[in-house]
Amino acid sequence: MRKSLWLLCIIAFSVNVFAEKPSLPPHVEAALTALYASASVSFVNPNTYFEWGFIYNTDGNPSPIESSHDNEMHERVLIYPNTAGIVHTHPRRADPRPSPADVNIAKAAHVPNWVLSESELWVALPDGKVKKIADVSWCGSQLKIGNEK
Ligand SMILES: [Zn+2]
Repeated sequence: MRKSLWLLCIIAFSVNVFAEKPSLPPHVEAALTALYASASVSFVNPNTYFEWGFIYNTDGNPSPIESSHDNEMHERVLIYPNTAGIVHTHPRRADPRPSPADVNIAKAAHVPNWVLSESELWVALPDGKVKKIADVSWCGSQLKIGNEK
């Protein structure tokens, strides 16, 4: 009995560990450093509303970074049939979590909508769920995601 409980614990733990924690394709994760650098003014200056972002396609390659020049980027992101995801920033003055509009975009476009802010990375999933992925920090000229060294 005791042994089977232990086994159950191991299974539960494994399921928890491997519960689909969404992850970004490697090229996209690398592009987050450039995105963070582009948006850094909005992380420093609390009066900046601008958002920066890019989309990435099914082969994992990110598009060039674009800036919103207002706070409406999430209202009018252009996606294509091969778009696999959206990544955009939230300025310091905004909530780091995906907004209701961000969630609606993810659902309508059927792709994850990632939100990078000064210190956090979140994602809105196509099923409407919202997840915090990691804390982030800027170290030298590199974005650190979670506990990566
Ligand atoms: Zn947003």
